[in-house]
Amino acid sequence: MDCIFCKIANGEIPTEMIYEDDTKAVFKDLNPQAPVHLLVIPKEHISSNNEIDSENKQIVGEIFELIKNLAREMNFDKNGYRIVNNCGNDGGQTVKHLHYHVLAGRNLNWPPG
Ligand code: AMP
Ligand code: ZN
Repeated sequence: MDCIFCKIANGEIPTEMIYEDDTKAVFKDLNPQAPVHLLVIPKEHISSNNEIDSENKQIVGEIFELIKNLAREMNFDKNGYRIVNNCGNDGGQTVKHLHYHVLAGRNLNWPPG
């Protein structure tokens, strides 16, 4: 499948990996929107939040726990951070492989545009 995040997950496209295990990968966003801008993905190809089901839903909890641990290790847990999942066209999703943006290192605006 021609999916850029599957290729990052299987090593076909090199990237600066922040964290990796059998089921998840974390790397830096190519076009950072904050001093810290990570992308957290399941290695399994799930196109979007619309494809979460009873078979694959466990990965979502694992990802959120991983983000908590990375925030502590990278020392932005206390100042805070934002986790974003864009879903579909109106959500602004450009890569059709489920991913969570983790933004930190500055005061983030709300509401989003
Ligand atoms: P979204 O708009 O939520 O689908 O986010 C896709 C994100 O992937 C964007 O923030 C892009 O900057 C980022 N991105 C696209 N290609 C790469 C890549 N090869 N390595 C790292 N980040 C990427
Ligand atoms: Zn994929």
